[in-house]
Amino acid sequence: MGVEIRCAGPAATMAVGRRLASLLRPGDVVLIEGDLGAGKTTFIAGVAEGLGVDEEITSPTFILARTYSGLVPLTHADVYRMDTLGEVADLDLIEEAADGVLMIEWGTAVEQSMPASRLVVHLEVSGQDTRILRFDPLGDWSDRPLEELEL
Ligand code: ADP
Ligand code: MG
Repeated sequence: MGVEIRCAGPAATMAVGRRLASLLRPGDVVLIEGDLGAGKTTFIAGVAEGLGVDEEITSPTFILARTYSGLVPLTHADVYRMDTLGEVADLDLIEEAADGVLMIEWGTAVEQSMPASRLVVHLEVSGQDTRILRFDPLGDWSDRPLEELEL
């Protein structure tokens, strides 16, 4: 079952990200959806904190993907500017991130090339500082205790 969490402010969104970090394992793929400014990068920054990444997470604008070292390596990609599936395939993201966690902003655009087991996170803007985070588990993600994400 999916889980929905209301986050009143960026700190709350990051806190949920930190909680997600403790559910992640090497090889996991997480797709993040939501409009520009919805908080996708903010959420990933929270996950990075939880994984012990000590660098600041920025939007990978010029480089499309970046890998950070942490307890588990974290690869952060933003495929917003990708025109074709081929371009994404060229990045070899899945192989690149095989030993770590892969988080992709706007990832449903490339869902066809993603593993059947994946977590999809939707961020919806609900007023200036409130975001609704919805977690949809696919494949073996349905066995993970997503209710632990609740604040
Ligand atoms: P995206 O990556 O989806 O484009 P960002 O994370 O870069 O979004 O930016 C989200 C913006 O919204 C930031 O300026 C952040 O401070 C603001 N914001 C306000 N409330 C929230 C919230 N509850 N969660 C996340 N971001 C929020
Ligand atoms: Mg972003």
